[in-house]
Amino acid sequence: MSGEVHNHGELVVVATPIGNLGDFSPRAAASLQAVDVVCCEDTRHTGQLLARLGLRATRLLSVHAHNERERVAEVLERLGRGEKVALVSDAGTPALSDPGELLISAAIAAGHKVTTVPGPSAAVSALVVAGLGTARWRFEGFLPRKGPERAKRLAEIAAASHPSVIYESPQRVTSTLQDLAQHCGGDRKVAVCRELTKLFEETWRGTLAEACEHLAGSAPRGEHVLVVAAATVGQSPAPSEDEVQSEVARRMGAGASRRQAAAEVAAEFGVSKRFAYESSLSRHGQ
Ligand code: SAM
Repeated sequence: MSGEVHNHGELVVVATPIGNLGDFSPRAAASLQAVDVVCCEDTRHTGQLLARLGLRATRLLSVHAHNERERVAEVLERLGRGEKVALVSDAGTPALSDPGELLISAAIAAGHKVTTVPGPSAAVSALVVAGLGTARWRFEGFLPRKGPERAKRLAEIAAASHPSVIYESPQRVTSTLQDLAQHCGGDRKVAVCRELTKLFEETWRGTLAEACEHLAGSAPRGEHVLVVAAATVGQSPAPSEDEVQSEVARRMGAGASRRQAAAEVAAEFGVSKRFAYESSLSRHGQ
């Protein structure tokens, strides 16, 4: 018991399917029908979901990344009047790389009851099918797109002693795998989970170097989660870009073509061919 005092209102955090309507629980349906208002990212999307599930249209209030702060006061007022409010996102569990965190903390701070109807989340679904250990794990969500923040997070993933779960868009999944290979070393294991619970669900398992090869030249489609294995004790650190460049240059000096040298160094150092090739191009005077 926390000893918290509860005002009248109740905020119910409700998970919705990540691609398969069959995963919508009966309790989630009952809960969305019982509340006074449903806070959702996109009223059209949630309206359609309710209609496809054959549920009566409920009052919907948009709470998305760009208005969550302003909506908090309005929702707190409703909770203060004793209303029951549900929170859903477009898919999966609200507040996990989705809006909701602010609203949940504000409701708690104001003394309202916060409960959940748990259900799908891409992170947990990917973790359990990855086969890279589940006892302890790290949720990374979306990585920063560039700059020192991205490099810092990649370095943390490289050093982590538990598997890391990363959300990624199809447009960026290949470059993120290349960056991961560069930081973690190409021999680190990864699971690339795609379109979980949907018709074309697929989980590809291998090393980061193999994943880069696997996706090379293709345009990945659909929603992706990457699960990167933990760093194993005694694992050799990823080679620096400088080491890769020097080794490609050395082999080219001995007569290999750049392509051939990059392929050999990639295999030996466990980095992607593309990384070895492009690094060699950026070396001074090459
Ligand atoms: N809160 C959601 C959850 O609990 O799953 C995640 C929301 S986040 C905005 C969306 C990201 O989740 C996608 O870019 C993708 O990385 C991942 N995702 C969502 N559905 C997925 C699916 N069916 N298969 C694989 N990844 C999925």
